[in-house]
Amino acid sequence: MDIRARPRSRQAPGKRELHRASNDRHVEGRYWSVLGLCEIANFASLRRHIGRARADSLVLDVARRISSLIPDVRISAAGRAVVEIAFERESPEVAADDMDRIYKAFLTTLDIDGEPHQLQMHIGVAAAPTVEDDEVLLSEAAESALEQARVDGRVVMLDLSRADLAFDKLTLMRELPRAIANGEMFLQYQPKVHVRRQEIASAEALVRWQHPTRGLILPGDFISVAEQAGEISKLTLWTLRQVIEDQRKLREDGFDLLLFVNISGQLLADPAFVNEVCEMLASTDAKLGFEITETAVIRDPESAIRHLQFFADSGVTLAIDDYGAGLSSLAYLKKLPARELKIDKMFVMQLTSSNRDPLIVRSTIDLAHALEMEVTAEGVETPSALALLSVMGCDMVQGFLISRPLGLDAFRKFLVDDGHLDTANGQLQSFVRPESFWKRA
Ligand code: C2E
Ligand code: CA
Ligand code: CA
Repeated sequence: MDIRARPRSRQAPGKRELHRASNDRHVEGRYWSVLGLCEIANFASLRRHIGRARADSLVLDVARRISSLIPDVRISAAGRAVVEIAFERESPEVAADDMDRIYKAFLTTLDIDGEPHQLQMHIGVAAAPTVEDDEVLLSEAAESALEQARVDGRVVMLDLSRADLAFDKLTLMRELPRAIANGEMFLQYQPKVHVRRQEIASAEALVRWQHPTRGLILPGDFISVAEQAGEISKLTLWTLRQVIEDQRKLREDGFDLLLFVNISGQLLADPAFVNEVCEMLASTDAKLGFEITETAVIRDPESAIRHLQFFADSGVTLAIDDYGAGLSSLAYLKKLPARELKIDKMFVMQLTSSNRDPLIVRSTIDLAHALEMEVTAEGVETPSALALLSVMGCDMVQGFLISRPLGLDAFRKFLVDDGHLDTANGQLQSFVRPESFWKRA
């Protein structure tokens, strides 16, 4: 193997070149530039076994094994536990095959000073057509792929020519921790209206990301990213603190409203999150509700139900979200300390145009009442849906007909206006806004 001391032109500072291909192939347009990052995932534990000095030269062992498999590769060390490899191929598929061979080669043990050791590798790869080769983009993509590989425990390859959603997602994943710290996240509130009492019963906090260059990003595009990146706990704790603060402001205005926060299923199995929330709850008199899905409970029922009971015992109102949209189990439904059931908007939005959905909604309302839960219909968009839900005995409604999610200031204004309208005519119609209202929101 050819180990060069002189850095390559595209090499980032701090990288050592370990192997250089003898015949670089560059046929414009026909080749793909491939950049791979191979990380020794169990570097720390290997270092304990073999000592620091030997561990520091492990990247050479990795480079040797890779170059014996793929002779035309250029290899540099990008840290004590990461090796960067670069090569060109005629298609991303061929590059993926090579990366796969590398991954498989490390499934067999490596001889380190006469002892067999297993190196666990995380491999992230980016590929782009050579003509479009943008070094910075390629190396950022390789880093994103490596981050994803750490989560997935397999080879992750990003094909930059496909301006792929996956790449977008990975970029967002890297940006999210900074975004939370920089105050780019904010909350909107969407009211739930009590049908019979004709008053605003509570509101749901929905998180948004005001990205400095991409603009507004809705949770559908980053909640699952936050979950995968292990950031959902931090994001939810931020949301809870913000909701507590906003509730204090609403109280100052004379509105003592229960505020709901969506809690991802994976957090129900996270004892550190549960402890932190319990501590937070013990130090506040805020009236909070959590919306959780049944699917979250079915995944690990024992710990989820135990943790939900902690929350309920601390005074949190629990609502089952998206009922009917995911997995359902009557056995768990009975065991959950929930006081509210939210029928998924998918059934509500087609209530007046489908034959089946009214039956489902009706029987869900009856089931919830039998279990002594109140029912909320979400996604109420039309007066006819509202009228039908009211006849069916639905307790609460939420949806664009009543209000879109509003930022805190707009929500405060909404509450003030409603108080006025409510005493004026006492009609549920008073919640229905003219078209012009939505444009302001
Ligand atoms: P969800 O909890 O089911 O929230 C309701 C979603 O439906 C919201 O979308 C809301 O804007 C939208 N919506 C409300 N009324 C109507 C309506 O009448 N018609 C239609 N078509 N849509 C309506 P959004 O804000 O984009 O949130 C999407 C999902 O993201 C939420 O679904 C929730 O699962 C998740 N999410 C939002 N905020 C958080 C959060 O802080 N933490 C977690 N873990 N998840 C969150
Ligand atoms: Ca919800
Ligand atoms: Ca929902």
